[in-house]
Amino acid sequence: MYDANYLISRLHAASADQQTRNFATFPARASVTFGELFAGAERHAAALVAMGVQPGDRVAVQVEKTIEAIQLYLGTVMAGGVFLPLNTAYTTPEVAYFLGDATPRVVVCDPTRAEAIAEIAGSASVVTLDRLGKGSLTDAAAGQGGFAPVPRGADDLAAILYTSGTTGRSKGAMLSHDNLASNSQTLRDYWQFTDRDVLIHALPIFHTHGLFVATNVALFAGAEVVFLAGFDKEQILEAMPRATALMGVPTFYTRLLQDARLTRDRAANMRLFISGSAPLLVDTHEQWQARTGHRILERYGMTETNMSTSNPYEGERRAGTVGFPLPGVEARIMDQGRPVSPGETGVLEVRGPNVFQGYWQMPEKTAEELQADGWFITGDLACQDTEGYITIVGRQKDLVITGGFNVYPKEVESLIDDLPGVLESAVIGVPHPDFGEAVVAVVVPQVGVELSAEDIRNALAEQLAKFKQPKQIKLVTELPRNTMGKVQKKALRESYLGLFSQG
Ligand code: AMP
Repeated sequence: MYDANYLISRLHAASADQQTRNFATFPARASVTFGELFAGAERHAAALVAMGVQPGDRVAVQVEKTIEAIQLYLGTVMAGGVFLPLNTAYTTPEVAYFLGDATPRVVVCDPTRAEAIAEIAGSASVVTLDRLGKGSLTDAAAGQGGFAPVPRGADDLAAILYTSGTTGRSKGAMLSHDNLASNSQTLRDYWQFTDRDVLIHALPIFHTHGLFVATNVALFAGAEVVFLAGFDKEQILEAMPRATALMGVPTFYTRLLQDARLTRDRAANMRLFISGSAPLLVDTHEQWQARTGHRILERYGMTETNMSTSNPYEGERRAGTVGFPLPGVEARIMDQGRPVSPGETGVLEVRGPNVFQGYWQMPEKTAEELQADGWFITGDLACQDTEGYITIVGRQKDLVITGGFNVYPKEVESLIDDLPGVLESAVIGVPHPDFGEAVVAVVVPQVGVELSAEDIRNALAEQLAKFKQPKQIKLVTELPRNTMGKVQKKALRESYLGLFSQG
């Protein structure tokens, strides 16, 4: 009966005969079966339609992570709507921009924000959903019965996810039913997910990683998820002996490594640890293997493209690389209109069924980045070795141009990270009166280690051309990161903006 709706029918297929099996288990509430998940999604769909949602309408959602929020996602797609999740950290003025841009029919928010959101929601209906899965939306859904999903095809929109907007305005990436379905199916097969898997789900669900990679892949496989409200070391360690897979950002792994209870024994039932959304340090990869016996599988993707590359499931998972293009996805590395040779750096472009439909109401931006022949310019700098492994070198906009020379931050960061006593580093370009930009290194020492900028400077002097050497080295206790574990280089650039100013 779900056949008419392209994505829902596919998300449902693996569990159609498993109604009474658990989809989600939780630390502190009764589990939810596949049957209950989809029945709840139907009730949410019916409630949304009763609120006036018609095919193509946006449903904007800024709520905590609950299973009801997953039912809301599925229900929106069932209703033919376009799911539009928003980071819970966004302030009301930030939300106002998204609501103005996306003009949703319904806005779902936490009850504590309902009043403020109602003021900026225009003609949209505002309903609530709290961190316990309760609110006026839940009440409205409870009164509904079954719902036959609205017919939607492969190319219809299923979701709009706003990019983090590190340069200028945040853009709404439009994702079709097939963008999501094809990628989940590819990942399920590539990473060998089945209905015997138990996935620890500790990622936020307002982002592509937790919403699509983790949730959709589990549904496509008919796998169980241990559904955690967020990263919680205790809960992850507790779940691990019974689980088979974890998807995380690099900080999950570095934080778990700090706990002595992470052992080979505890990870004995696990078959797969996946990392993405930000670069995993080679050191973390190695420590993880030494401690648990598992090699973390690193993959690469972005909001606009879903997942594009992955280290192999079988075969060598190479630390510091993001592996190969996924089956059905093409990748090329370009410099001034030409593919670069192996080992050379250029801008990564990808093409395939994973690539989005364009930016919501931004045809010019779309045309700049999504070329007519389907190649999407990711804005990530990358290189590929002779065996085909791709390494992400950083964002193009993070490239430092000093005195006319290009400096790739990753090259300098890797050397610094290899120095004794260094935990991690970030290299940025800071305005400089003579050089345009100057290379600045922000370095985090390992806990308890005394490092001096002078020692780092001396070590780098032997290894790097003069123009690549940092003009200043700042020692800090931690780097600013967003919820997905990405180092916020923009924030760092702002902190050190005046470092070389003369006034
Ligand atoms: P988002 O759209 O928030 O998912 O961010 C996508 C960006 O995260 C990419 O364009 C990359 O810059 C970065 N990213 C994702 N995965 C990786 C990875 N495995 N290694 C390095 N950078 C990554």
